[in-house]
Amino acid sequence: MRLAFVVLLAASTASAAPAIISIGNDALPTTVAAAHHGLGLLDRERDASVVVVDDADLPEISEEMHHAFHRCGGMIQSPSLDEALHPIQLRSTAVDYTLDHAAAVDAVLPQMKATTIAKTIGELSAMQNRYYKSASGAEASNWLAERWRSFATRPGVTVQLVDHGYPQKSVVLTIPGTTRAGEVIVIGGHLDSIAMGGLSANAPGADDDASGIATLTEIARVLLANDYRPERTIKFIAYEAEEVGLLGSQAIVRDFKRANTNVVGALQLDMTNYRGSNKDIWLMKDFTSAAQNAFLVKLIEAYTGATWGMDACGYACSDHASWTRAGVPASMPFESRMADRNKHIHTGKDTLALSNGEATHALAFARLGVAYAIELGKGELGEHDSHQLWQLLALGLLGAAGLLSRRAS
Ligand SMILES: [Zn+2]
Repeated sequence: MRLAFVVLLAASTASAAPAIISIGNDALPTTVAAAHHGLGLLDRERDASVVVVDDADLPEISEEMHHAFHRCGGMIQSPSLDEALHPIQLRSTAVDYTLDHAAAVDAVLPQMKATTIAKTIGELSAMQNRYYKSASGAEASNWLAERWRSFATRPGVTVQLVDHGYPQKSVVLTIPGTTRAGEVIVIGGHLDSIAMGGLSANAPGADDDASGIATLTEIARVLLANDYRPERTIKFIAYEAEEVGLLGSQAIVRDFKRANTNVVGALQLDMTNYRGSNKDIWLMKDFTSAAQNAFLVKLIEAYTGATWGMDACGYACSDHASWTRAGVPASMPFESRMADRNKHIHTGKDTLALSNGEATHALAFARLGVAYAIELGKGELGEHDSHQLWQLLALGLLGAAGLLSRRAS
């Protein structure tokens, strides 16, 4: 049931910069308290309410979503009341969830390295912050685009910076599909970080969400190093501005709508490197696809060696909510039960050392992500290049020569 009415909950002068946000109904009183410039209730439905607040209050509202409700995003910012009430719907063809590409998955799994993931987390979290409006937040986009470009070993694989009107850009790496290029798979995480103080804050965001971006980066690195050629198109997306209302992922959904893009599945990696609970991977069952989650369980059991459980994270806790709202099957495998998550996020203490300096926890998510890419994208790895074959041959000859010389002596 929808109650369409407008009530001003706080005396306020007209907002200098009104922002329309959707929040879980449970978070409404907290949002009212954090909206110092006033708040107007525009609509209330079963799960969520649409309110208008002043843009200047968003960082504090975001902080309260994190502090009181353990949600990373926790709200969805919309450009209009109409879009808030009638979310954009994307084309999404139903897919079969089958496991039949074990040879390809098993070939790449041993090449995934926790040390590589840890190094990427270290580099991202060394920046002052990755706030969506800051210079270092903008630089993070350039840095990541350059890193991803270094993996693009063949024509057709592209890396784009996507401008949504903020200094920080979303970064998109596309591996085009061979026979079903029109069916797109999205593997994403958010590039931005946040802490009290906004632009000038020290917000290393090592776990939230450099860990997710580093995990994506490792998946892309290994797939491209093996010249993987999926049938479906795979897009790796580092979203800008998740922390202030899923801005980046929603802008991407809007772009995809304009292009009539058919998205068959979305995987969100937001916080992968802090093992806070007694199992490794926790699938969020709310605001996600039960069918795709069941597929992820099969992938976890077949390929990761990790243990898993189910939990819930509440309204719009990360970018998977943008895809779910748009009618795309989405999942969010998370580092712990939500209640046991890393307590240092959104502060200067969200460092690699205080999550998992070895990134062994994140490695389980990289294994899951690469299995998801191949079993949903299908297709094949490329031929080993002749350079690698010669190296193997040379090593074999050296070994044989060593054996012979030992026998002779
Ligand atoms: Zn996050």
